[in-house]
Amino acid sequence: MENKKINIIGGGCAALSLARLSTHLPDYSFNIYSGDSSNVYDDHYWGFWKTNVNIDAYNNANHTWTKWAINTNGSSRVLSSINHPYCVIKRHKWLNFCKSKFKTSKIKIFNESIFERNGDLFLNNKKIRGNIIFDSRPPKTLSNILLQHFEGFVATSKKDVFDPETVILMDFRCDQSKGIHFIYLLPFSTKQALVESTIFSKNIESKEFYSNEISKYLKKYFNLTEFRKSNFEKGVIPMHYISLNSQGRYNIGTRGGAVRPSSGYAFTFIQKQVTQIIEQLVKRKKINTKIHKNVDLFLDKILIEVLDKFPEIAPKIFLNLAKSINGDEMAKFMSGNYSFTTVFKIILSMPKIPFIKSFFSVVTS
Ligand SMILES: Cc1cc2nc3c(=O)[nH]c(=O)nc-3n(C[C@H](O)[C@H](O)[C@H](O)COP(=O)(O)OP(=O)(O)OC[C@H]3O[C@@H](n4cnc5c(N)ncnc54)[C@H](O)[C@@H]3O)c2cc1C
Repeated sequence: MENKKINIIGGGCAALSLARLSTHLPDYSFNIYSGDSSNVYDDHYWGFWKTNVNIDAYNNANHTWTKWAINTNGSSRVLSSINHPYCVIKRHKWLNFCKSKFKTSKIKIFNESIFERNGDLFLNNKKIRGNIIFDSRPPKTLSNILLQHFEGFVATSKKDVFDPETVILMDFRCDQSKGIHFIYLLPFSTKQALVESTIFSKNIESKEFYSNEISKYLKKYFNLTEFRKSNFEKGVIPMHYISLNSQGRYNIGTRGGAVRPSSGYAFTFIQKQVTQIIEQLVKRKKINTKIHKNVDLFLDKILIEVLDKFPEIAPKIFLNLAKSINGDEMAKFMSGNYSFTTVFKIILSMPKIPFIKSFFSVVTS
């Protein structure tokens, strides 16, 4: 029987999400090069809306909510969806679930880092060979671009303060002097929530800035001054389309263009990407890792241009978006599965002048 080899570089979301589906490819054996101990990442939560493509993650989710809110100084909008709840799963839980699906006789894991030289990949000076190589090493980021950067922690209070029914997806009632700034709050119970301070700007702030902003927010809107901090999280996600082309291998995950530039969401898109790859291999089709539609990337470019040039209207943009559609529509829109009507409603709700100016700036650049 034919036995072909697939090499997967990386041991994160894209690499292991792909390897978990390896049982669909009985003709192949797999080598996973997951990086050495310097590449071990702290645990954190991945948020996503339930769709067909992430059903395994939904079934293993740490928490799910059917309601989510967007708050600004003057207004608030709560959206809900029974069909597409907002979910979170912890990184290590998902990666362990993926590993539990491995057929061990078919998969070898090397906890070592791969080095690139003149476009080829090496493990300890030995060139990586195989029929197919999928690479998910984190890409280098460009300088002077808009970034989504965030820090936060799980806050545990002695008193009941949080509404465990409703996620606060974006609350703009915080200091806007450093860039577009909002608080993201996932209520795990009445006493416990993950709270993050998130900024869209070109400069990372000090640790104290994010932490102070969270404390000020919890005091002002939850009358909460005494709480325990745990499970610290931080991240930086470029708000720019990154999709690297490499000779002789396929890039997946962040380096393979899975991150949606305007939102930073990638988990669902990675699940779509790996499912698409497996289907292509099963059907012996050409591998295509592209996951975002051209129109989505174009609309993202315009939105990012607006956010960059007119940051003061960001709260209005996200609030109007949430007011123009219902929860099912928003969940599908954020997961890249929307209808033309949804986009039309969103476009109509946007402030016209900044979007027209940004449209021309994008098409002429
Ligand atoms: C803190 C944080 C929170 C996020 N939250 C969300 C969220 O809520 N929802 C969402 O949709 N997206 C989120 N994202 C974005 C995205 O989902 C993640 O970045 C996701 O982990 C990307 O998957 P990946 O496989 O491309 O990269 P990673 O998961 O980062 O995996 C990269 C892998 O490459 C390995 N590696 C590195 N160098 C080498 C080497 N030389 N050789 C071999 N292996 C190597 C590393 O060990 C790692 O295993 C978040 C990102 C961050 C950073």
